[in-house]
Amino acid sequence: MPLRNEAADIAGEIAELRHAIHQEPEIGLDLPKTQQKVLAALDGLPVEISTGSGLSSVTAVLRGGGPGPVVLLRGDMDALPVTEETGLPYASRIPGAMHACGHDLHTAMLAGAARLLCARQAELPGTVIFMFQPGEEGYAGARQMISEGVLAAAGSRPVAAYGLHVTSNRLRCGMFSTRPGPMLAAADQITVTVHGRGGHASQPHRAADPVPAACEIVLALQTLVTRKFDVFDPVVITVGSFHAGTTDNVIPDKATFLATARSFSPEARNALQELVPRLARDIGSAHGLTVDAEYATEYPVTVNDAAEAAFATGVIADVFGPGQGEIAQFPITGAEDFSFVLEQVPGAFVMLGACPPDRDPETAPTNHSALAVFDDAALADGTALYAELAVRRLSLG
Ligand SMILES: [Zn+2]
Ligand SMILES: [Zn+2]
Repeated sequence: MPLRNEAADIAGEIAELRHAIHQEPEIGLDLPKTQQKVLAALDGLPVEISTGSGLSSVTAVLRGGGPGPVVLLRGDMDALPVTEETGLPYASRIPGAMHACGHDLHTAMLAGAARLLCARQAELPGTVIFMFQPGEEGYAGARQMISEGVLAAAGSRPVAAYGLHVTSNRLRCGMFSTRPGPMLAAADQITVTVHGRGGHASQPHRAADPVPAACEIVLALQTLVTRKFDVFDPVVITVGSFHAGTTDNVIPDKATFLATARSFSPEARNALQELVPRLARDIGSAHGLTVDAEYATEYPVTVNDAAEAAFATGVIADVFGPGQGEIAQFPITGAEDFSFVLEQVPGAFVMLGACPPDRDPETAPTNHSALAVFDDAALADGTALYAELAVRRLSLG
């Protein structure tokens, strides 16, 4: 029986696991309840299991009956600090925590794929690593799992790695999307503090006002984006937090802001790292103020290997039909810590539409929204794709 049909046969159980995880979301690197649910789902399967020491990860290794390479499949498990407002019967029971990015689906689909592949253990030509990862949402859990040895879990390193991500909008349910090369952006954080000298707001000449200089820096960053970067190698800088002062008649001692910087090439990222702090400091000094400007690198660009992206596209067309997959014209400006895996192992990251049928993908609430809904109907397809990618990639040797 094709894996797709086998996945459909266990779709009910995959949905049950997904709902259980969804009702008890956990945030960050420490997800003990989610880890327990994954371990329970893998219980009895012929896999070697290890758990993380600095984070509640689960690594399961399935050794097939035949010799062959190692392939890694990854699903992330963490939720977001959002209070769910969907009203779903299986909505989060924990105020301030929600699976608003659909990682509950990834976890359940990966556990489902483990079941399907274990049932074919004897005929598998090689080894599959199942990487259940905490802390994708800003905690770099993938990097920590790499440093704890996930890429060495099978003895030899994987020849290929695949990750799936559901989306509550944009793609209709069951539609896959990937592309060769950059798939998601690098995301870095800029922290700027302009140091002035406070005083009476009516006598600014007797003080050193940090506010206008900080505003100038914010605007100059937007000019920097358009004047220093190739329009075909895009950069986004968004100041998401800006704080200064307490009231209208007091000049504050300092002004502080935070920005995110997104880029798609090492060249652009290096240039940002050099130009942003310099611009901030020099504007400050033009006003006789000192500026602390930090550029902290967070997640690198998620780069799909061209051959692996083509392979994944072929598998999608073959298993689900040519209308069920698209090659995305552009990368996504979001970021992913699966990028740390793809820095070391060639592979592909694939998006999967999970927009409910009663919503318009163009206007449906996005991932991270308190209203985001991911349809269970995507679960069987995601499970089947994980399993098919592993089986077919192992067969290639
Ligand atoms: Zn997210
Ligand atoms: Zn996510």
